[in-house]
Amino acid sequence: MSRSLVRRRLTALVGAACLLLAVPLSASAQPAVQPGGPFVPPAQGEPNRSAILSFADVERELLSLERRSKGALSLDVVGHSGEGRPLYLATIGTGPERVWIQGRIHGNEPYGPDAALDFLKTLVAGGKHARDVLSEVTFAVIPMYNPDGSEAYIRQDTVNRIDLNRDWGVDQDIFDRLNEVRVQRGQNPLSQRTFDNYTQLRAVESQAFWYAFAEFRPHYMIDIHHQGSYLVDGSNEQTTFSVGISLDELMLSGDQWNTVRRMGVLAADAADRHGAVTTTRYPYINIPEGVVSAAMLNGPGPEGEYADWTPRGAMFFESRGGIGQKSRGYLIKQNVDGLWAITDAIADGTLDTVDADRWSSIPARGAFLPASGPDRNY
Ligand SMILES: [Zn+2]
Repeated sequence: MSRSLVRRRLTALVGAACLLLAVPLSASAQPAVQPGGPFVPPAQGEPNRSAILSFADVERELLSLERRSKGALSLDVVGHSGEGRPLYLATIGTGPERVWIQGRIHGNEPYGPDAALDFLKTLVAGGKHARDVLSEVTFAVIPMYNPDGSEAYIRQDTVNRIDLNRDWGVDQDIFDRLNEVRVQRGQNPLSQRTFDNYTQLRAVESQAFWYAFAEFRPHYMIDIHHQGSYLVDGSNEQTTFSVGISLDELMLSGDQWNTVRRMGVLAADAADRHGAVTTTRYPYINIPEGVVSAAMLNGPGPEGEYADWTPRGAMFFESRGGIGQKSRGYLIKQNVDGLWAITDAIADGTLDTVDADRWSSIPARGAFLPASGPDRNY
């Protein structure tokens, strides 16, 4: 792909001092741990931080992958975080279909980088499967969207203290449409003040990745998160993995609605093949200011410009909370399995043959388990 825009922005940012400020972990950033809830196995409360990838770990691995790939993977710095850390985007592949994968936009949701790097590792290692996929698909992978928040282990960025997944652009037309849909669904319309309070790409991370999005123009996007611990609706079993769509059907084109549901079905099927994994459907939400939402709605960029590009499908994964040593392996693997299932179907052309209506047969996410640790939402 052409990276002229990325390069231009990189050049503009090279002069910026890359000072990493030490950020003490605020007490409020670390919720009280209440291990041993009724449905939670022992020793699966909040994670041991030493098992969570740091920014330096991710950076080291990305640089190593770039070296080992012998030119197949290119690592771009598309900007710098509020504290000056490089914002890395890895691209690999030569195929006409373009897939964007991002992790850890919320800094206290740890396993997105593990899943993204595992996926990249397989692509870089070569072999027939990887070669077949890379000849059909080009990937843009952002293992750690929010490095400052990750280092501080908080949801938000550290400079503005805003949620980076509520910071993409929404214009008045999108907002009006949101309110029309809310009324159609029997909900109260949001006040104009809500629109005025949207942060609208305030964070430098949002700006940098929006320009990278506008340059890369993905057909598909997958955003990797963690939620709290929840039951499967109507059961006493805990869900380990939820697949989610961030917009009401009525906000999307028919093709987008079908495509996002097909992506969800594929990821759910693949993750569920692992015995320890129980997949659910994330509850209804309709938030145009989220990254994958704004992308699908052609939301405006930092200076009011438009990418004039809407992905066919953009959805998200959620791993359960209460993560710990014993669950780390399969919680990462369920994400990796989901990524492969979707991208294999894109590569071999079977995505559009998936029955989109199976989406509604994925079990709903049930009750929250407060004793298992803090809640997190998409
Ligand atoms: Zn999240």
